[in-house]
Amino acid sequence: MSRAKKSLTPMMEQYQRIKAQHQGQILLYRMGDFYETFYDDAVEASRILGIALTTRGSSQGNPIPLAGVPHHSVNTYIHRLIAAGCSVAICEQVEDPATAKGVVKREVLEVITPGTLTLEEFLPREQGAYCMSVFPEQDSAGFVLGDVSTGELIAGQEHPSQLLGLPSRFNVQEFLFPEEMVGQGLLQELRNLYPDIHFSTSSAWHFQEGECEAFLRQHFSVSDSTLMGIREGEEPLLRALGALLQYLRSLKSEDLSFFDHVEFLRQDEIMVLDRLTVDNLELIRPMRGEDRSATLLGVMDHCVSPMGSRLLSRWLLAPLLDIRSIEDRQDAIALFLDRSSLRNELAGELKPCADLERLVSRLNERKARPRDLKSLSQALALLPGIRNLLTEVEGGEIGRLRDSIDELTEIRKLLEEALLDELPAHLYEGNLIRPGFDSELDRLRSLSEEGRDWILSLQDKERKRSGIQKLKIGYNRVFGYYIEIGKSHVDKVPEDYIVKQTLTSSQRYATPELKSREEEILGAEEKRIQREKEIFESLRARSWEFRETIQSNGRHLAALDLLASLAELASLQRYQRPVLEQEPVLEILGGRHPVVEMLQDENFIRNDLEMHPERHQITLLTGPNMGGKSTYLRMNALIVLMAQMGSFVPADSARIGITDKIFTRVGASDNLARGQSTFLVEMEETAYILRNLTSRSLVIMDEIGRGTSTYDGLSLAWAVLEHLHSSSHPNPKTLFATHYHELTSLEKDLPRLHNFHVSVKEWQEEIIFLRKVEPGAAGRSYGIQVARLAGIPGKVTERAFRILEKMERDAHFAEGGKPVPSQREQMTLFPSEGHPVLDEIRSLDPERLTPLDALSLISEYRERLNREEES
Ligand code: ATP
Repeated sequence: MSRAKKSLTPMMEQYQRIKAQHQGQILLYRMGDFYETFYDDAVEASRILGIALTTRGSSQGNPIPLAGVPHHSVNTYIHRLIAAGCSVAICEQVEDPATAKGVVKREVLEVITPGTLTLEEFLPREQGAYCMSVFPEQDSAGFVLGDVSTGELIAGQEHPSQLLGLPSRFNVQEFLFPEEMVGQGLLQELRNLYPDIHFSTSSAWHFQEGECEAFLRQHFSVSDSTLMGIREGEEPLLRALGALLQYLRSLKSEDLSFFDHVEFLRQDEIMVLDRLTVDNLELIRPMRGEDRSATLLGVMDHCVSPMGSRLLSRWLLAPLLDIRSIEDRQDAIALFLDRSSLRNELAGELKPCADLERLVSRLNERKARPRDLKSLSQALALLPGIRNLLTEVEGGEIGRLRDSIDELTEIRKLLEEALLDELPAHLYEGNLIRPGFDSELDRLRSLSEEGRDWILSLQDKERKRSGIQKLKIGYNRVFGYYIEIGKSHVDKVPEDYIVKQTLTSSQRYATPELKSREEEILGAEEKRIQREKEIFESLRARSWEFRETIQSNGRHLAALDLLASLAELASLQRYQRPVLEQEPVLEILGGRHPVVEMLQDENFIRNDLEMHPERHQITLLTGPNMGGKSTYLRMNALIVLMAQMGSFVPADSARIGITDKIFTRVGASDNLARGQSTFLVEMEETAYILRNLTSRSLVIMDEIGRGTSTYDGLSLAWAVLEHLHSSSHPNPKTLFATHYHELTSLEKDLPRLHNFHVSVKEWQEEIIFLRKVEPGAAGRSYGIQVARLAGIPGKVTERAFRILEKMERDAHFAEGGKPVPSQREQMTLFPSEGHPVLDEIRSLDPERLTPLDALSLISEYRERLNREEES
């Protein structure tokens, strides 16, 4: 044993031994009613939690830093440590301190990391919280998202570039990477893109195929990984899944069998939405601020249960490609839409229902609290009513969900018979089990009740004997039973009273009589509590046996809640049922932007879109700033997405050809963290789209080329449009908004490109936005008028008008109404004729000029041009 260790107490030695296994984690070490931290952990914890840093004993002559938190509020502190990016190891006393010989045995029962927090009060109600494991290979990367609060596993395998968007689609709190690959390719990209997401590693060994296969076979009790739904060629997926479950196993000592099925996100089954699209369309998070009601999720969520809301975000992020499955959802929504009373009654039943998906993980061993079992019992009691409500529904998705609900009558009855109506928050004092449920408990209870009666009669007796009416008999866990007397009466205290404790305003006493019965009474009370704990444990264990069914019931209720809520939404907002087709059409009549129409007081002006890859593949949209171009582009993308997730849509009617991917490139966004300029990011995004689109994709481009000089930008936008239109490439349906009016001339050369504009009316130098999208190109941009509306000083806007007039005169910039080049070749940097300086330059023979002549000529030209500009 080392010298340092020798000088430690046995308890600190135990601490050191345990801590050695948990480097890099804050070790919360249970000591009685506190969780203590020592050494560097104490310094760190006191800094993060703002708790006192003290010392306890010493090591090698130095005091040992100590900081502790009370056990009853430990969850709040754990959450704060996790929020600060720490991982926390919870070390419990695993034997009864009263009977322990020597140092109480302690073990770490759980390590909580940012992605494996299960404390419901700190998890977002409407979103899962995931730990994402990634295993990259050359052309495809396997990923798995695991939610420890529900046992949900979502797995897939994608091209590495596609995977970059996943963390923003799902609420990923932690990455798990193979240790040896950190810093390489995709993993480094993920870290750069998501610097706030905690990342953990497992050794490559845990990601090994054979290792993973064996672990998964055992975990899922299958003989072959294909039985879990993993396909041939999905080895990276298998490795990410195996590593994730092994990682969770290393963190949690509890039973992980509630991770009992895997949902697959596969490109041939769901629409691809990349990170940009999720962000740009504000599906889950608003671009600015935190207001959830400014997102599609916020607008669509009329669910009455958190299970329904979480399912909504999953549906929203994974629109379907299979028309039958989409129509199944539509049929269910249509049925609920027709039958509003059924919808309302169902909502009434579901509202009080516990979050079954999250409850299951809490039924797991030491985490269960009395109220969890009560919630389970109350939720199960709702099931027969819910099934009953839906009895008349024939077949379809609703019928299937109804029939899949298992009422779990046996466990429900057991819990109802066992549990009292009102339960305490914690187990400490018992008081959970109904009289008559267990004869042994009844016996112990009457013994302890007798004891309590005896105490009350003693209290009466002592009041009379002492003449102190305010005398009370009380109890606490440290001192046991005591007689409490206010300080003003202590002179009347009988002689046989023995002082137990002195408080500021009272004294506490024992009497020989109280002492002699105390042990007996406490013994009965303790045994009663112990018995209640045993019964509770057996009820918990029995409920845990039904975890799979409880979980699947949770999923069925979530789906019913969501379908009914989508009907509610359709009814409130007058959404219509879209028609889904294999034919690649896109026809939206009377469309509205689902979020903008909710957020503004102004009436939303409906707009149409009719596209077909053979006739009208590209919509080129021009119009003034603030005219409504971006809104129109996003509205159409959102309607396509909503239609494919099965929802009704904000339009008078819609025909949607199945779309495999939606791409968006919107505005300019800096990525300074990655040291990239606005323009570089813009070009990267465009390149990504051009590489990944297919003829079934929908491309939304809201400005490209704005981050560079006008001619560079215009040329790039021009070339991108030609590329999208070119018959040698896939021709995705494209909505392209631009302020480069020169592009509108492309309509002549590209037969499948059509000009549209958002209309405005001019009135006394002001503009009125009509917001109607109409065929044809816009006349002009009205940027200066909009600047005036925005409050730019009059002097500046006046000057801007003059500069604009001059530039238009000079025709350096061909605006609407002016002749524009119809071919790239015609677009030269300078006008081909017209300016005397240019003519002179053309006529020069550089061979005959001395350097000095050249310099003086440049200087002369400059002077002439400056003079001209000033005049
Ligand atoms: P810019 O070119 O400056 O980006 P824009 O043409 O893209 O402007 P939007 O941002 O789409 O304009 O629209 C500006 C505002 O006009 C929106 O925030 C919205 O409030 C309102 N708006 C847009 N479309 C409509 C519509 N169809 N009906 C009613 N209001 C609308």
